[in-house]
Amino acid sequence: STFKDLGLNDDLLQAITDLGFEKPSEVQEKAIPILLESETDLVALAQTGTGKTAAFGFPMLEKIDVSSRTTQGLILSPTRELCLQITNEMKLYGKYCKGLNVVAVYGGSSITDQARDIKRGAQIIVATPGRMKDMINRRLVDISKIQYSVLDEADEMLNMGFKEDITDILSHTPEDKNTWLFSATMPREVATIAKKFMNNPQEITV
Ligand code: AMP
Repeated sequence: STFKDLGLNDDLLQAITDLGFEKPSEVQEKAIPILLESETDLVALAQTGTGKTAAFGFPMLEKIDVSSRTTQGLILSPTRELCLQITNEMKLYGKYCKGLNVVAVYGGSSITDQARDIKRGAQIIVATPGRMKDMINRRLVDISKIQYSVLDEADEMLNMGFKEDITDILSHTPEDKNTWLFSATMPREVATIAKKFMNNPQEITV
């Protein structure tokens, strides 16, 4: 199939053409129609390098309201490097989504600068759990209107001991949001998190 067949809008299709992506990867082919067509939770078993950032990124970009400055999407990832990489990809994918602001939140860099960028109106925040929790505790960010949350590399985040931070962060988001969990493996801890935070998730494996 093509990206157009998956139902993506013209802003995204133009960005995809610019990037030179010829056809959807397997995880994109499986995840994108599900996420576009329904308001559902999703558990996706997928390795890195399979195109999973776009698998959750395209639907999130399509679903958020860029005319609003409210934070609607939250992507949690285990490391600063991954956080910056996802932010960069989201900006490329959303380059024709007028008014889009994607902000990266991670440790080892000025919290004041990150708070200022968020205050300007970030529809999407890409964060590492530790810094995100810090920002919430200091009331520098409002995630009470989040509609879509992504747990990227969930197995890695739990391996790194972020379980409590993730639990705490998600407790500040609305009950009725959708959660999309991506993980390379499905150890018991990941299944437990999925069970605790997700509502009847659809499942895909690539
Ligand atoms: P990810 O697994 O999301 O880290 O993506 C791995 C790399 O593949 C990134 O550099 C993406 O820009 C690229 N990529 C994602 N989807 C596609 C696609 N459908 N065709 C070609 N490259 C892609």
